[in-house]
Parts: sequence; C-alpha cells; structure tokens
Amino acid sequence: MAVQQNKVTKSRRNQRRSHDALVAANPAECANCGELKRPHHVCGACGHYDAREVVATAEEVDLDEDAA
Ligand SMILES: [Zn+2]
Repeated sequence: MAVQQNKVTKSRRNQRRSHDALVAANPAECANCGELKRPHHVCGACGHYDAREVVATAEEVDLDEDAA
C-alpha cells in the first residue's frame, strides 16, 4: 500500500476541496407547457423542443398494437 510521505495539512486539504462544491442546476421554463426543464434539452413533460414536438410522450404512444 502506498503511504504518503508528508502530512496533508487542514489548510492544504481545504484548499484542494475549495473546487469541489456542487453548483445548482439552471432550469428554464418550457415554452410549450411551462414545466421547468434543462436548457438545450427536450422537455420531459411534453416532449417539445424549440416550441415544436420532437418526442411523443408516453400517454400518446399506443403500446398495445394487438388491441387495435
Ligand atoms: Zn414542455
């Protein structure tokens, strides 16, 4: 097992960790449904991007083809 040669002081440890903070997400409002969504991503609620539908939502897709 590798053993460190020198003690890492609280100061040096904390300086290293000064860059470890998580940043908050930056949600944007969907232009179609108003739901909060990630910028530059398709809306998870309505499947719209750039004010047009690009992905069908789960309710709209008929998965049971035999019933039709
Ligand atoms: Zn939406």
